[in-house]
Amino acid sequence: MEVQRISTLKAILQEIRNTVDEQLNLQLELNKCERIIQRLNSFSVACEECNQHFTLLEDDILQLKDKLGDLEDSDLKHHKQTLETISSHLQGKHKLVSSGHYLSISMCFGPSIGLLFGMLIFDNIGFWLPIGMGIGIIIGAYLDADAGKKGLVL
Ligand SMILES: [Zn+2]
Repeated sequence: MEVQRISTLKAILQEIRNTVDEQLNLQLELNKCERIIQRLNSFSVACEECNQHFTLLEDDILQLKDKLGDLEDSDLKHHKQTLETISSHLQGKHKLVSSGHYLSISMCFGPSIGLLFGMLIFDNIGFWLPIGMGIGIIIGAYLDADAGKKGLVL
């Protein structure tokens, strides 16, 4: 990927960021866009799909910039879809995870396992449910921190 192309795209993102209000800024997930650009750039050497996705995102961001004054719902939707498509490629193919990914899984599993223990084995839900939840949170937070250290968080 040419350096010029990336810095141009980042400059456009910055321009959009300076123009839109806080709410639209969040809606457009501009910070995420920037992280995705970096990821696509680093994978594009080896992955043809990342190359294509970069062009896709580039078109999308240029379009956003052109229509900045009067963005319609369909533009926002298109942008969101583009980000989702690319994210799922990065997560599926390149094993990246979204931030808080493991915590959200363990928040769900921890209490279930606690419940199972509490009901079936120890007959004491009030005791095991919070323990399951607590252990789930500890494991989830650990895995998230670990993924962060390995640079795997999107
Ligand atoms: Zn790829």
